[in-house]
Amino acid sequence: MKIDFTKNSDGLVPAIIQDATTKSVLMLGYMNEEAYTKTVATQKVTFYSRSKQRLWTKGEESGNFLNLVDIAVDCDNDTLLVKVDPVGPTCHTGADTCWDEENTPSYGFLSELEATIKDRKENATAEKSYVASLFEKGINKIAQKVGEEAVEVVIEAKDNDEDLFLNESADLLFHYLILLQAKGYTLRDIAAVLEARQS
Ligand code: AMP
Ligand code: ZN
Ligand code: ZN
Ligand code: ZN
Repeated sequence: MKIDFTKNSDGLVPAIIQDATTKSVLMLGYMNEEAYTKTVATQKVTFYSRSKQRLWTKGEESGNFLNLVDIAVDCDNDTLLVKVDPVGPTCHTGADTCWDEENTPSYGFLSELEATIKDRKENATAEKSYVASLFEKGINKIAQKVGEEAVEVVIEAKDNDEDLFLNESADLLFHYLILLQAKGYTLRDIAAVLEARQS
């Protein structure tokens, strides 16, 4: 990998630290060539600390190391994207990331769909949509739809039509997202419950 350590006169390149699993941006640090070499050799992220004026292995005091997963260099070889498995919180404040709340994991397209469903709930009269009409009918009706779609998934799971199974699964997830929204919850709330069970 070609990294241009000469672009900045101090020999430092910015290193964006990203959680390899959740894709959250955890922190930003700087690496010189020595820090980069040490990071690759030890598989623990090491920066050049401008305040300490020395190599700084993140976690050296706290034990909250950043285990290296992958390093990618950007289009003009002057910025690093470092994917890691963090051991504990990354920020020295004890927060998971140096930006925290505004920087929580996204579920990609499902998060987009969640936002659309929220919009239909909040602007129910603006557009006569299927989702808006479900919100109008209320939680009992929505919960009933989830039940029906779940039964359809069970039925299709026993058959061999993969297409029907996938479509009923999509119906179930879609209506479940509507039910969560009706109850005032998000996918992230459910993920938090599941995550808590793991530890
Ligand atoms: P650590 O590397 O986690 O053992 O922390 C050692 C010291 O580095 C802390 O006392 C902070 O001064 C600093 N530090 C730790 N984490 C961060 C961070 N995410 N951003 C900036 N400084 C940090
Ligand atoms: Zn660049
Ligand atoms: Zn921080
Ligand atoms: Zn269905």
